[in-house]
Amino acid sequence: MSSQPYVAIARKWRPQTFDEVVGQDHITRTLKNALQSGRIHHAFLFIGSRGIGKTTTARILAKALNCTAHDGPTVSPCGECDNCQSIAQGTNIDVIEIDGASNNSVEDVREIRETVRMVPSSSRYKIYIIDEVHQLSLAAFNALLKTLEEPPPHAIFVLATTEAHKIPATVISRCQRYDFRRVTIHNLVELLQTIVAKEGLTATDDALYAIARVAEGGVRDAESILDKLITYSETTISFEDVFDVLGLVPWKAFHDICDAMLQGDITSQLEIVDDVAATGKDLSQFVEDLLRYFRNLLVYRTAGARQSLLRLPEAEMEALAIRAKKFPVVKLIRLIESFSDLCNNFDSQLAQRTALEAMLIRSTKVDVDISLDSVMEKLIHLGAGGILPASAASAPAAPASPPAERKAPRPPENPPEAEPPRGASTVRPTAKRMTLGGDSLVDQWRMLVHEAGQSALSLGIWLGRAHPVSVEDTGLLELELEPGAVQAQAFFEEKENHAQLEAFLQKHTDNIRQVRLSLAQAKKKSVAPQRQAEEPEGHIAQLATDECIAAVLDQFKGRIVQIIPQDGAENASPPN
Ligand SMILES: [Zn+2]
Repeated sequence: MSSQPYVAIARKWRPQTFDEVVGQDHITRTLKNALQSGRIHHAFLFIGSRGIGKTTTARILAKALNCTAHDGPTVSPCGECDNCQSIAQGTNIDVIEIDGASNNSVEDVREIRETVRMVPSSSRYKIYIIDEVHQLSLAAFNALLKTLEEPPPHAIFVLATTEAHKIPATVISRCQRYDFRRVTIHNLVELLQTIVAKEGLTATDDALYAIARVAEGGVRDAESILDKLITYSETTISFEDVFDVLGLVPWKAFHDICDAMLQGDITSQLEIVDDVAATGKDLSQFVEDLLRYFRNLLVYRTAGARQSLLRLPEAEMEALAIRAKKFPVVKLIRLIESFSDLCNNFDSQLAQRTALEAMLIRSTKVDVDISLDSVMEKLIHLGAGGILPASAASAPAAPASPPAERKAPRPPENPPEAEPPRGASTVRPTAKRMTLGGDSLVDQWRMLVHEAGQSALSLGIWLGRAHPVSVEDTGLLELELEPGAVQAQAFFEEKENHAQLEAFLQKHTDNIRQVRLSLAQAKKKSVAPQRQAEEPEGHIAQLATDECIAAVLDQFKGRIVQIIPQDGAENASPPN
């Protein structure tokens, strides 16, 4: 390393010509055209986020206007003459750079108005570059406006701002407006590559991509990150260096969390979150990175290995390829929605952590999501007009029924064409308040269970394992849970779930106020008066309590009409 004082990358390699400005071709082209045609406006408004080249472009414009190596304004200032050099160094007497943030009073602008009348000392133009111009006071803007309305022919103003909406319309209308864009990752990487080469260093591609991603389109940010890395890594800048220097979560963590999610391994996911939190990394940044990661997966899953959309190093593409195909598209969309919700809702570190963990668990644990997604995908793939016959809704559910030991003994007592459950058709229409009890208790109950599933899936699922025993005049409903339905029991023992059940019954019946639940002891379950052919019904009811099947039914607003054993050999009649 040389003994020269260290000069920051951004200053050292600041673009000196229009062609060197990165990612703002639309602006430099227009400026060059204006210079070539000699139609030079006296006021320019440069708009765009910080660190993307507004001031740099303003200085190049100043050089182009005042370069003494040419007889007049030029698109290619020499960079050698006194004017070019002093402008580049910010010491030219005719190019006045003003920080609008600290010179925002009306007096400051008045001073400009007085000096602007004086002819330039050694240049064609007197150029005022006012940075952060939106910081000017209203009085200062008014004073400026007067100058902009009648500028002396030798004066040119370049107003730069990150917040155009704070500038009075009267001022904007006097200016030629240029909107600077955030620089693409691709362009940033190219720029970084050039700088690294000029510095006589090397850097891996993935390191540069990582820098570019963090810089989010800001040239200055990218350059200052590179500065830090040059001091940190001396010769070769690696992917890991970037993560170390920036305090980012290593990329491997994202693959790990993704794999753990695929394997349903919650412990590993929580451990990764713990690692991230324990090393003091910023969780909101982590969630953003997760969002980006799953967005990449979705892009890969739907559009394939498109470099133009992903901009990832080759190794990353391969890693994505392996994982992308394991996720259904719907699942990825949901994950992305969840992560983006998380991004918006972050305030405290603890809230972040809890929300993140809950989200991970939900995405992994609730298998319903996955099963449902794959079912939906299959249905989408089945295509054929895309319209699903009503009876098909129950079809995917059948193979998913695990308790095969107790297979459906015979076809249901109803022929397939009998769509609504018997008896129910008369009372069935939308959630009307019913008087629970009497002969139709069982049918009424079935409808209520169905209705419950519509309003709250879990309530419907667990209620499906309960049977009415008695209805008392006091408004008390006695329910008995099937023997062994301990999960359902635990569910209803939760105070709020019990309250939810009572509220539901109060809403849908006009006589039930309270519920008492008990777990049936005997093998024979409900008191089902005058219905001896209960077996298939019981089967259907039991199937419907399967979380996965319940979810499918819920999704398609379907019912189980018929159970066909998976081997299909039995005399089950085909659905419709
Ligand atoms: Zn020059």
